[in-house]
Parts: sequence; C-alpha cells; structure tokens
Amino acid sequence: MTHGGDTIFGKIIRKEIPAQIVHETERVLAFRDINPVAPTHILIIPKKPIASIAAATAEDKELIGELLLEAAEVARREGLEEDGYRVVTNIGTHGGQTVFHLHLHIIGGRPCQWPPG
Ligand code: 5GP
Repeated sequence: MTHGGDTIFGKIIRKEIPAQIVHETERVLAFRDINPVAPTHILIIPKKPIASIAAATAEDKELIGELLLEAAEVARREGLEEDGYRVVTNIGTHGGQTVFHLHLHIIGGRPCQWPPG
C-alpha cells in the first residue's frame, strides 16, 4: 500500500513533520488541525494519497467507509457525541480545499452555522 503522497499530509503520514496524532490505524490517520476553527478540530485522512472525494473510485469504497466510521469513533472519544459536531470534506477551489489529500474535518465544541459560508 502507498503511504502518503506529495502533500503536507503525506509528510505527516510518514512522520517527516510532527502532528498531534489522535488515532492511527493501518489505513487511516487522525490528527489535530494546526489552525483550529473550533475548540475541537481534527482531520481524518486515508494513508492512500487520494486528492479528494471527487478522485475516489469504486476501489476506495471500503476505505471511504472506514474513514467515516473512524470520524464518528474519534468524535465519540473526544466527547462530542452528546452536543453534536460536523464532519465536512472540501473539494476543489469553490469547496475551499487547500490540501489536495482527501481529509474529513471533525468540527466540534461549538454550534456550527447552516448554511456554511
Ligand atoms: P482544506 O482547506 O483543504 O479543507 O483543509 C486543510 C486543513 O489542513 C486546514 O484546516 C489547515 O489548517 C490544515 N493544515 C494545513 N497544513 C497543516 C499541517 O501542516 N499540520 C496540520 N496539523 N494541519 C494542517
């Protein structure tokens, strides 16, 4: 399996740069966002370098499921379940994506607005 890819998240996966890792499995990594937008802001990424959910294929079906379940598990462990939280993934320019390695944001610890900006 490929671990990483040519982005800042690839470097985090390979432990070339530090991150506050919350949970790690063979295929998925969860770590705290360096620039949190809420009291709890965690990123969940596959170790496989997929640019965004738009670049995922049928081959990634199980991995994407694992990513979502991991997000729910991390949120549970962070104590976010009772008040709720948001899981979001940004795609491309209009989506506000800045790192082109698929990631889910877990945002919690404060109410979120709807619709998002
Ligand atoms: P995007 O805008 O692509 O959806 O989200 C990228 C996220 O990655 C941003 O929230 C940004 O703060 C976070 N980020 C960018 N570089 C780093 C880094 O080096 N370490 C960590 N922990 N987070 C990062």
